[in-house]
Amino acid sequence: MKFTELNLNKNLQDAIRKAGYKEPSPIQEKAIPAAMSGRDLIACAQTGTGKTAAFALPILNRLEKASYGYIRALVLTPTRELAIQNFDNFKKYGRYMNLRTVCIYGGAKERPQIMQLHRGCDILVATPGRLIDYMDRGIVSLEGIEIFVLDEADRMLDMGFIHDIRKIAAATPEKRQTLLFSATMPRPIERLAQELLHDPESIKVAPTTSPAETVDQKICFLKKEDKKHALSAFLKQADVRKAIVFTRTKHGADRLVKDLGKENIESIAIHGDKTQGQRQSALERFRGGKINVLVATDVAARGIDIRGVTHVYNYDLPEESESYIHRIGRAGRAGASGEAVSLCDSEEMGLLADIEHMMGKEIPELKTDWSVELERRARGDRRRHSHRAGSGRRPSGHRSYGRGARSERSGSFHRSGDGARAERSEGFRRDGDKTRSERSEGFRRDRSRAEAVRSGDRASYSRKRSSRRPAGRREDVKAS
Ligand code: AMP
Repeated sequence: MKFTELNLNKNLQDAIRKAGYKEPSPIQEKAIPAAMSGRDLIACAQTGTGKTAAFALPILNRLEKASYGYIRALVLTPTRELAIQNFDNFKKYGRYMNLRTVCIYGGAKERPQIMQLHRGCDILVATPGRLIDYMDRGIVSLEGIEIFVLDEADRMLDMGFIHDIRKIAAATPEKRQTLLFSATMPRPIERLAQELLHDPESIKVAPTTSPAETVDQKICFLKKEDKKHALSAFLKQADVRKAIVFTRTKHGADRLVKDLGKENIESIAIHGDKTQGQRQSALERFRGGKINVLVATDVAARGIDIRGVTHVYNYDLPEESESYIHRIGRAGRAGASGEAVSLCDSEEMGLLADIEHMMGKEIPELKTDWSVELERRARGDRRRHSHRAGSGRRPSGHRSYGRGARSERSGSFHRSGDGARAERSEGFRRDGDKTRSERSEGFRRDRSRAEAVRSGDRASYSRKRSSRRPAGRREDVKAS
């Protein structure tokens, strides 16, 4: 199919051409005609599939002419980053049109946002908290809304925005077009859709539980205390050019940045406790290649579109299996190949069981000789290491991680010589030496939890989980 077959106005066609898009993505092919027909729409698609254009293009096409003096389209989105990304997309596709898009989110000064709103707004992109605040204070009225988009609806629900969503929807006219986009379709989303949508057309691209096929997934079993060393060794491999490391907590992300720093690996963290400015600047530095390692929590990283991420590391396994799919989807976007390595300690076997159950397959184990490396480090034997380091050369043009790191950047970490294997001392039995059958013991132990997930009993599942939650605050950011 071609974009010209979609009946979009000429200004949009020009903008699409300017953006360099050759043909509509599968979600665009399905969602654009459906949305343009005026029907409500429930679309199951992940970030990276082109879903933003799938709702932005029909909105721009419908609004077409400038300002009626009130807000006609509302895009509700879970996080600031996603709001800004949406805003940028509306700007890009609407570049030859006279419509005004305004973006509002929490954690930023109100005054500039309010001034923008006063200057006129046709399309409003907003996070729920800030929008409700402005509604309550009479700064924003949603009475003129013709199209209401819920972007990443599942994540908004995960973040506890359900009441805000209801309140916002109630402030819009009943006669409106509602488009709901969600990466996953758990029962609460279906219920929300029943509440807010009228006779929706349902669209799905690629099953939600199938992770990006271009991503090579691996699991690495190890002790919790070894994770930091294993990660830094992974990050020093030659082919790791742009990596995102996921941690479960904000505190964990900050701590990891410090730990990596001690290993001469420069990284930067984004999470809900960082200011908007810090988060944007971190993303820009990472995007621009000034920093090669981004340490992120799920909420902060959700939906962020960054090209050229070669590796994703799950420093902690995610509590929610669906997050695993989102995380690994950061690597290998737009057809490029990527690698996702999850570091799994003995306490996380249950989480792994959930993930593998959800995907319906086992994640292959990464066989490395990292244990030898760790043991060597523990002995403080650096000589042998530098010797080995000499055998692996980083390709020219590769960014350095910092002074003094060279000898450690061997790229030989995956290589395991027989001699080294023999050196592995007795008693250094890592979790990774467990056989699958031993692991399946863990599977059995956690079957009840997996059952709870399967049967959609999220509440009891979360209760069981929370009793095991490690110290350190869990990210429960309110984006605004
Ligand atoms: P999204 O899923 O909306 O976050 O989009 C992911 C990326 O795909 C963004 O960088 C878009 O600019 C890009 N994109 C969207 N639609 C197309 C298309 N039809 N062809 C090529 N790239 C696209």
